[in-house]
Amino acid sequence: MALIVHKYGGTSVGSPERIKNVAKRVAKARAEGHDIVVVVSAMSGETNRLVALAHEMQEHPDPRELDVVLATGEQVTIGLLAMALKDIGVDAKSYTGWQVALQTDTSHTKARIENIDDERMRADLAAGKVVIVAGFQGISSEGNISTLGRGGSDTSAVAIAAALKADECQIYTDVDGVYTTDPRVVPEARRMDTITFEEMIELASLGSKVLQIRSVEFAGKYKVRLRVLSSLQDGGNGTLITFEEDDNMERAAVTGIAFDKNQARINVRGVPDKPGVAYQILGAVADANIEVDMIIQNVGSEGTTDFSFTVPRGDYKQTIELLQQRQDSIGAAYIDGDDTVCKVSAVGLGMRSHVGVAAKIFRTLAEEGINIQMISTSEIKVSVLIDEKYMELATRVLHKAFDLGN
Ligand code: ASP
Ligand code: MG
Repeated sequence: MALIVHKYGGTSVGSPERIKNVAKRVAKARAEGHDIVVVVSAMSGETNRLVALAHEMQEHPDPRELDVVLATGEQVTIGLLAMALKDIGVDAKSYTGWQVALQTDTSHTKARIENIDDERMRADLAAGKVVIVAGFQGISSEGNISTLGRGGSDTSAVAIAAALKADECQIYTDVDGVYTTDPRVVPEARRMDTITFEEMIELASLGSKVLQIRSVEFAGKYKVRLRVLSSLQDGGNGTLITFEEDDNMERAAVTGIAFDKNQARINVRGVPDKPGVAYQILGAVADANIEVDMIIQNVGSEGTTDFSFTVPRGDYKQTIELLQQRQDSIGAAYIDGDDTVCKVSAVGLGMRSHVGVAAKIFRTLAEEGINIQMISTSEIKVSVLIDEKYMELATRVLHKAFDLGN
């Protein structure tokens, strides 16, 4: 008998029928003798609907109140799932994030988990109940409802698995595992039986939507055994996320290609080439809580230089505005940008021991006439920023160049 955390995303609980299917799946695992904690998302489309409603009230919705609204989506699904389980004779009990309590910091809409009280969950499990917890939400240190950022239910599930020292955290989703790239873009994409945490973190942070990045980091940190499985089909072992030290397979140079349209480029042109300029520009952006990804500073000429960086597309306008307000103090000639760019990345632990991976990527893109605007690399990934209209083409040709379909 094991303690297993199941997590079901929005698509998996997207209709009453699907919620009943989830209940059957949970009942089956229960019948096999396992203790089950289920973490669920809001029904698909619901969080988007709530975000849109909030924006009808305020251009920039008040973060505390936005969390009050957003958290309702998950509250509906926990109650419905508990009913569906009771209806088929399985004792279950639902909890919101604050009832558990899943404690977070005070950064509304992107709160971080600080502590999880496992007492109520353990008592219910001991009493033979299935415990259902609302994903994506918690309670802040000031006692307010908080949410963990879009896709945050994955992180809730992993954090709860860590707190309970669960044997496995199973993420049920609308795909049957982690693929070498998005099969909707590249039909030859292959499901991987295993992938290492390091690779998964890169793929998740690079826009592969299977798991929220923070959930993978959390799992890596607390050594939670994490598996991605399909909730829509029966059978299959999905993809197990392994720890590098337990995985002695020979690694290919590249194991996956990720792409991300949530990118915008900002250019700060003609700034004085002197110490402190990068800090002046990026410090202001960081103070606004905007995440900067790729950064390029050109070699200066005649005492000035151009400075470019990328931010999430949703922060594009705000970033331009806040830099324009500081244009004089920064001493920039002008500030512009482009929000029709995307990032395509190749990831692989084997890159550490294979040379020429970056060159092969650049050659492959050049052969297709795709212009590279920015490049960033780490030990196990190479990312390029390109025009978004080439995103699918770039993904396809790179997938092929590294023979990921076989
Ligand atoms: N319902 C939230 C969202 O749509 C959280 C989640 O699904 O993980 O982002
Ligand atoms: Mg999700």
